[in-house]
Amino acid sequence: MKWLKTLIYIATLRCEEADRIRSIARTEDLTRAQIAAERFHRFLCNNCRKAKAQLDRLDRVLGSIRGVSTSGWQERRRHRVERVFCSCCRGEEKE
Ligand SMILES: [Zn+2]
Repeated sequence: MKWLKTLIYIATLRCEEADRIRSIARTEDLTRAQIAAERFHRFLCNNCRKAKAQLDRLDRVLGSIRGVSTSGWQERRRHRVERVFCSCCRGEEKE
C-alpha cells in the first residue's frame, strides 16, 4: 500500500511543502514522489507557478553574474557586491 501513501502525498501537497521542495537546489536529493508532488501541485496552484517562475528567473540572473568577469571592477565595487550577496545568503538585512 506504499503506492497509495505516495498518491495521497502527491495529491495533498501543500504550498509550504512545495516551497520547501523547490528550495532544495539539487534534484538528486529529492525523491521521485517529491518531484512529482511539487509538479502536480504547481499545475494546480497559481501562486506556486509564480514562485517557481521567480526562482527560475533568479537562477538565470545568478548564473549570468557568475559568468561575469569581475577583474575589471574597482576593488571597492567588488567588495560591496560580495558583501550584499553574503549578507543575503546569511539572511541578514542590508546595511
Ligand atoms: Zn501552492
